[in-house]
Amino acid sequence: MPADTVPVTGWGRTAPTAARLIRPRTYEEAARAVRECGARGGIARGLGRAYGDAAQNAGGAVLDMTGLDRVHAIDADGGTVLCDAGVSLHRLMEVLLPLGWFVPVTPGTRYVTVGGAIGADIHGKNHHVSGSFSRHVLSLELLTADGRVRTVVPGTPLFEATAGGMGLTGVILTATVRLQPVETSLMRVDTERAGDLDDLMARLADTDHRYRYSVAWIDLLARGRATGRAVLTRGDHAPLDALPRGGRARGEPLSFRTSRLPAAPSFVPEGLLSRTTVGLFNELWYRKAPRARTGQLQRIPAFFHPLDGVPHWNRVYGRSGFVQYQFVVGHGREDALRRIVRRISGRRCPSFLAVLKRFGEADPGWLSFPVPGWTLALDVPASLPGLGGFLDELDEEVAGAGGRVYLAKDSRLRPELLAAMYPRLDDFRALRAELDPRGVFVSDLARRLHL
Ligand SMILES: Cc1cc2nc3c(=O)[nH]c(=O)nc-3n(C[C@H](O)[C@H](O)[C@H](O)COP(=O)(O)OP(=O)(O)OC[C@H]3O[C@@H](n4cnc5c(N)ncnc54)[C@H](O)[C@@H]3O)c2cc1C
Repeated sequence: MPADTVPVTGWGRTAPTAARLIRPRTYEEAARAVRECGARGGIARGLGRAYGDAAQNAGGAVLDMTGLDRVHAIDADGGTVLCDAGVSLHRLMEVLLPLGWFVPVTPGTRYVTVGGAIGADIHGKNHHVSGSFSRHVLSLELLTADGRVRTVVPGTPLFEATAGGMGLTGVILTATVRLQPVETSLMRVDTERAGDLDDLMARLADTDHRYRYSVAWIDLLARGRATGRAVLTRGDHAPLDALPRGGRARGEPLSFRTSRLPAAPSFVPEGLLSRTTVGLFNELWYRKAPRARTGQLQRIPAFFHPLDGVPHWNRVYGRSGFVQYQFVVGHGREDALRRIVRRISGRRCPSFLAVLKRFGEADPGWLSFPVPGWTLALDVPASLPGLGGFLDELDEEVAGAGGRVYLAKDSRLRPELLAAMYPRLDDFRALRAELDPRGVFVSDLARRLHL
């Protein structure tokens, strides 16, 4: 297998490190890559959509799993799929939607692999109803440090360490996933505006249970009485009878069409996303949203993955890249959320990609991120002066409120805060020490946070 030493980064393009990139095409090649990964160890990588350093390994091996991308079996009656871990959710949608099935959980991009979805135990707009991705995994095959391939099922310590375990228990080779039945490939969407943060939280708390999918875009540059103003979009898969009779969509209700604009240029000047440009964008975005609209039909890409329409959109942050900061605080800690939102808008962080969501029940993964409560995610240019110190202060606030930051987005958390944020951390470390005593599986994230 050819292995080039190349710079590897996360989606935020901060902190690139050089690693030997290996792309196994068979399970045997994957096993050989693990056996031969050398003193600096190895880590599995999917489509590199984790924002930070989770799928990087400075000086060691990175196993690009996208070469293992076969869909092995679909149970079109029972609604399950068995596939390689390198299959993307995009590919699954192409294959499954015409059969009337949808992935159980999708993040804000469909260009993630099944392995990455389990490794980070991703959540979607339906977390309050459906939980995270791993809740829908019926079993998986895991290549562990001793070279064995183990079948791992929910309810076992190895499953709970692997779901959200950031690739550190081994390489996921295949997974069997339970699917969501749909009658059409369209979404029926309600949109409404909320004038400020309290208004937004009240709307989410009062009516989220009526919707399978729910998320709010929040204007973090708005200040004063408008602090936390937002646009909520909520909906569900449209039933067949919601499609206009005689229309094209009714004729082919399960078709899945995507379109892509030209890619963002490879060089974008620093400072393009200034407070002024982002402030203008946010103002327009808020004002163009309807005050209240119900029942709009939207295609899946428009509802779930609007950013996927622009390849390499992450380049718009310029050479220094960007940080995505995502945290969750529990119900009852709305005071902390209010303080953090006020601090961010007071600091005038130029963030146009900021979303607030209400999580449902926690998931069984020991390092899974979601806990019942409020999660806020925002993108910030890494070049913003004083950003590191500011985010450190937010970490303290989050940890003090019993909350946590999301490891799949992280590139800068200090390790001393981790145990307070993830109470099962010691169990995770103990399982790894037993399963992988030589520390074969390691990443930049794992070294930085002593995982
Ligand atoms: C635009 C955008 C929107 C996003 N929205 C959301 C969201 O709504 N919700 C959410 O939860 N996340 C979201 N994310 C984050 C993304 O879903 C996760 O980071 C996901 O893990 C990326 O999958 P990947 O295939 O790109 O994996 P990578 O980024 O390559 O790797 C992520 C982690 O998974 C591990 N991994 C990958 N493949 C395997 C394997 N075969 N075996 C073992 N471990 C493996 C890696 O070691 C690493 O720790 C978003 C990211 C982007 C860019």
